[in-house]
Formats: sequence, structure tokens, C-alpha cells
Amino acid sequence: MKAFKPHVAAIPRYPYAKVQAPIKLDQNESPYDLPEEVKRAVLERLATLPFNRYPEMHAETLRETVADFEGWSERGVVLAPGSNVLIQTLVAAAQRVLDLEPSFPHYKLSATLTATPYQAVPLGEGFTLPVEALVAAMREAETPGVLFIPNPHAPTGTFYSPDALSQLADAASTYGWLMVVDEAYYQFAPAHFKRQAQGQGHVAILRTFSKAWGLAGVRVGYLLASEEIAEVVQNLLPPFVIPATTAALLQTVLEHPGYVAEHTERIRRERERVFVELKAHPTWKAYPSHANFLLIRTPDAEVAYKELLARGILVRRQDHYPGFEGCIRVSIGTPVENDAFLKAAFELGREGTKEDA
Ligand SMILES: *Cc1c(COP(=O)(O)O)cnc(C)c1O
Repeated sequence: MKAFKPHVAAIPRYPYAKVQAPIKLDQNESPYDLPEEVKRAVLERLATLPFNRYPEMHAETLRETVADFEGWSERGVVLAPGSNVLIQTLVAAAQRVLDLEPSFPHYKLSATLTATPYQAVPLGEGFTLPVEALVAAMREAETPGVLFIPNPHAPTGTFYSPDALSQLADAASTYGWLMVVDEAYYQFAPAHFKRQAQGQGHVAILRTFSKAWGLAGVRVGYLLASEEIAEVVQNLLPPFVIPATTAALLQTVLEHPGYVAEHTERIRRERERVFVELKAHPTWKAYPSHANFLLIRTPDAEVAYKELLARGILVRRQDHYPGFEGCIRVSIGTPVENDAFLKAAFELGREGTKEDA
């Protein structure tokens, strides 16, 4: 280990352990695979690729397609194998990182692994955005840096209004910061911040194909930023980072994007149904969500996790965060999967809490 920088040995492992279960509601994946006809079109296209050749250096063709799709300048788009890679790249470039507590864990992990100064501000009462404290942190920091705001927020599902984000964007502009709005779940929410970010060098938008598009296994995310920011991020990524197979797959998917709205609508409807049904639960409380998951407070997260798993349902514990005692996070699945979850949840309610579980 002497060959490595000292901080590297202290890097924690990514907080996820794979567990098998018939009903998988632990990673906020789409429960729906690509429609059969789109998948067939993808496979036909893959068969025509020359596998002996390098792909385009920055997946330029796909980048142009994504830019058209988003109505964004092509030179302001950066593609990477997952938005996690873009988070890590942005943090590697950043002088410091400002985060929420809790938040998506990859911001903090990236700061640790790049030895970047890091500060997190706790969420306000009711998971609200602590605008004043974030503005103060930007104003008082020794140098500017990058502020990450997931919207909708993970792991609570809270949606932050464009007004609140605009206040942060103004402060970012004043104090020289870059605000990155991570819109991994924007399709499930009432609004997004892309229009406000357009032409604003101090705001960038991060999006992914992993959630609403149902392509978590394919690994592609993208940044929408000013051309100056995009160029720096692009230069930090290795060349040829998007495989030719991935580029061809996405090119085909973007020719058939109609399924996304349909799947998203089903998931939003199911999210509301599960939320409303849980209101009748004797001991569990779901928080309002604008993402494809629900944060639920139970009397004991360990008991809830184990008892659900015993019934074949895998969820994610969130009780390691301060103030999140008893909390689990449950992805919205197919109606059949959600029914199984609700049935198990109410069985657990009847059995009671820790004392008699
Ligand atoms: C799921 C998720 C991502 C997606 O990461 P990928 O690497 O693109 O799969 C990014 N940000 C947040 C907040 C997420 O929940």
C-alpha cells in the first residue's frame, strides 16, 4: 500500500451489498425492461458494428443525438458510463464539495477518494432545502467549489421548487460556485431546472438513463453544462469512454423514446397508490415522494428489512442517517410487486413492532 496515496486506504467501500430476492425494490431501477421491439432493433444494430474498431473519441454521434433530444448545445453535453462517473469527475475537478446530509452517497464518496475538501449541510425540518445555510456555506468557504443538489432528493424523494433552486443558483453565481442539479429522477417530478440552467455557466444538470429509461444495466449518464465547464469535464475523462455497443444501443433507444412516458406514468400512478394505501398502516409512515421510490418510517428498520426479505421483498435500509431512525427506502415496482409489498407491510403492522417480532 506504500505505492498508494495515504488517503486511498481509508476509502470506504460503496454502501451497497447484493442480496437475492424475487421482488427487488432496493435500487430504484425501472421494473420494466426495454419494449421487445426496441430491444430487437438494438440487437440488429449491434450485429452491424465492427468490434475491431475503436468507438468515436467522445461518442460524438450520440452526443449530437442527446443534444438534439435535450435542446442543448452539443459542446455542452458530456456522456459517461453512468452519472456516477460524471459525479466523480466533477469532484476531481472541484476545489471543494458542498453537499446535503443525507444525500446521494456518491458525492461524499467521490470527495473522499479524491481527497477534496467536503462539507455537508443537514436538511431542514421536513426534509426542506436548507437554502440559507447553503448560501452561508458558499459565502464563507475559503474557495468556491461544486454544490450538488439531487432533485428530486435522494433518499427522501422530496421535490425542491425551481424558486428555491434559483436562490441557490444566484448565490452560486455571486460566490463563483458551480451548482450541479442531479436530475436522476426528474421524469417522476412536476418540474425540472433545465431551462433555468440554460446559458448559466454556474449551473449544470446531471441526468441518467438508469432510472426512467430503464437502462441501469447499460451505464450511461450525461451532463448538460456550459461549453467551458463541459470541456474541462470531458478532458478529465479518458478517451473512448463510451463503448461502441453502448452508443449504438442508445442511438436506437433515442429513435424510440415513446415507451419512457408510458412507463413513467405507470410508476407515478403506482407510487401514489402505494402512498395512499400506506396511510391506513397502523405503524408505518410514508413520506411524500416525487421520485420512483418511497421513504418509509417504520418502528424498526432492521425488523422491517428482515421481515420483508423473509417474504421475498428486498428493500434498502436508510436508518444509518441521523434522524432517519426506522427508515427504509422502497422502489416502486410493477403493480403485482407493489401489491406483494403492501400485503407484507400490513402483515408486519398486525404483528406489531420490535417487542414481538
Ligand atoms: C440512481 C442515481 C444516479 C444514477 O447513477 P448512474 O451512475 O447514472 O446509474 C445519480 N444520482 C442519483 C441521485 C441517483 O439516485
